[in-house]
Amino acid sequence: MIKKLLIANRGEIALRIHRACREMGIATVAVHSTADSEAMHVRLADESVCIGPPAAAKSYLNIPAIVTACEITGADAVHPGYGFLSENANFAEILAAHKITFVGPRKEHIQTMGDKIAAKQAMIAAGIPVVPGSPGAVNDSDAAQIAAKIGFPVLCKAAAGGGGRGMKVAMEPGQLAEALATARNEAKAAFGDDAMYLEKYLAHPRHIEIQIMADSHGNVVHLGERDCSLQRRHQKVLEESPSPALDDSARRDIGRIVTKAMAKIGYLGAGTIEFLYENGKFYFIEMNTRLQVEHPVTEMVTGIDLVREQILVASGLPLSFKQQDIVMRGHAIECRINAEHPRTFVPSPGAIRNFHVPGGLGVRVDSAAYAGYRIPPFYDSMIGKLIVHGRDRRECIMRLARALDEFVIDGIETTLDLHRALLKEPEFIKGEYDIHWLESHLAKG
Ligand code: ADP
Repeated sequence: MIKKLLIANRGEIALRIHRACREMGIATVAVHSTADSEAMHVRLADESVCIGPPAAAKSYLNIPAIVTACEITGADAVHPGYGFLSENANFAEILAAHKITFVGPRKEHIQTMGDKIAAKQAMIAAGIPVVPGSPGAVNDSDAAQIAAKIGFPVLCKAAAGGGGRGMKVAMEPGQLAEALATARNEAKAAFGDDAMYLEKYLAHPRHIEIQIMADSHGNVVHLGERDCSLQRRHQKVLEESPSPALDDSARRDIGRIVTKAMAKIGYLGAGTIEFLYENGKFYFIEMNTRLQVEHPVTEMVTGIDLVREQILVASGLPLSFKQQDIVMRGHAIECRINAEHPRTFVPSPGAIRNFHVPGGLGVRVDSAAYAGYRIPPFYDSMIGKLIVHGRDRRECIMRLARALDEFVIDGIETTLDLHRALLKEPEFIKGEYDIHWLESHLAKG
């Protein structure tokens, strides 16, 4: 069993991992940049090591510094959280060479799923339905012919894509060359890799993803779905479980398909299979080989601590539950709270003057912020998540509105007001929204 775990991350997720370790009797090591020496994860961890200057490339992405921190502190495992090094197969391999346990899947799965073209091919081979598209990477000369075959509109996507970047839609043939070039440039700049593929652009899908967990004892289970259709610029804003669009039989069917595929490829640990869902059909888009930002909605409806299970699996132990033990109870919704202007979305770093979090039955706040904390300008603008559970969706929405009203964050701009307004929208209340709804709603003002 892991005895001392180094948390290779920052912010709310570093704290989230620390909490699971504490409850398991595992000592924690925080790492931080010079900009984060006052951060909550650093204050709460048993030990902390400064690994570099503010720029993530020199600290949170600095593999030699993190391995050295493990050696200095005697940490026998690393949890990468999400983002940063969480989907870096090279990092997993280096840790293995140093006999340090990586709390994550096997490196070959990180590698395959990190290349979205290879991921789609692997999923087709494992029996998962995918979005129709090019069979592999496209070049500028064959793109038009392949796009015509797929049928317009088509989406140009980066094989290395993530965070909604490197993605451009072409509504008709005349727009293809430009969309491809723009997406290619964006991918080159963001990922240093400009391999592109084409996909049918679905007009009104929902984004529905399935949480899975697998251990090294042959257990592969799914923990239901999360509906992440409320997005801005292809980035999730609010997530819920269960999806208002699925019934029990659709949930069971997709769960079976996914667990069978994961057993077939020999997956280990936590993973999320992302689908677009339109007219009753699922189409795979990508797989994330890590814990996700929105994992708490699944925890709220299943009562299972996903980080704890990740640590058990990484220690070579079996999952603490079987498929038949999982019962989805009630409804959960998560709001991502960003330090951004609620209408312009311009980042708003700076000092938090006053910070009061809501409480009460079914209310969970995952945040590393506190009154007096100064949000550094170097990292992602998400500063916390409010997750609420209710016996049904209606109760959950009422409770969420109440909790949002209690939340006070003074001194910076936040997206709290955006969430307060969203909850009043009739389409949201009815659960009738697709991946485009939020942007078109925001455009109306
Ligand atoms: P990333 O890895 O950058 O997050 P994804 O492939 O997961 O990229 O897609 C992010 C979002 O982009 C999806 O949730 C969806 O809103 C939109 N999207 C992706 N593929 C398609 C598609 N084929 N048709 C319509 N929308 C899509």
